[in-house]
Amino acid sequence: MSMHDDKLNLILFGPPAAGKGTQAKRLVAEHGLIQLSTGDMLRAAVTSGSELGNTVKDIMTSGALVSDEIVIALIEEQLDANKDAPGFIFDGFPRTVPQAEALDDALTQRGMGVDSVIRLKVDDVQLMDRIKARFAEQGRKDDNPETFGIRLQTYNDQTAPLLPYYAAQGKLAEVDGMASIDGVSASVARVINAVAEIKTPEKGWLAKLLER
Ligand code: AMP
Repeated sequence: MSMHDDKLNLILFGPPAAGKGTQAKRLVAEHGLIQLSTGDMLRAAVTSGSELGNTVKDIMTSGALVSDEIVIALIEEQLDANKDAPGFIFDGFPRTVPQAEALDDALTQRGMGVDSVIRLKVDDVQLMDRIKARFAEQGRKDDNPETFGIRLQTYNDQTAPLLPYYAAQGKLAEVDGMASIDGVSASVARVINAVAEIKTPEKGWLAKLLER
């Protein structure tokens, strides 16, 4: 990781429906960070009927993960398409240890690193309640209660092992995801301020963030 670049790269981490997308959108609006949601990219591919979309459609509907190669390629493409961005918010990526390793490599190659991994902690009962509401609102096929159970299991089996990976790097910050949306945003802002303070760039937007 490069501590002294003036980019801010955050991973919003947590099970499906933890509020990652909601918080990511707020950070985009507030700081101009670029949200990279592999779930959104894959859904767009499915909707467009592209070859990629056809490849991933059934896997997504089942609640399993698509291959590491596919999502890593999507992320690298976006890193290169947004070279002037102040930083990125990774939302729903990485979801496996190989993805996390690939992200570290991809960022290092581009003179950046992961600055913080913000874990939104929400218990399973509340996740189920949220998903029922989202299913009613948006009608996402993989939000039905049965598939959602599989997605939670996938998270526990394949994604939760990233917690010790990032804890070992000293990058893990935990936030109470059961709080109100504003409450969670306030906790996320505290983490971002702490990161900005550590990076202490002489100039640039991170320094300005601390002046506010
Ligand atoms: P999400 O909207 O992030 O919950 O993603 C919806 C679905 O897209 C997941 O259940 C997976 O099938 C697929 N997906 C999204 N991101 C990834 C990822 N990083 N790795 C593998 N599969 C993913």
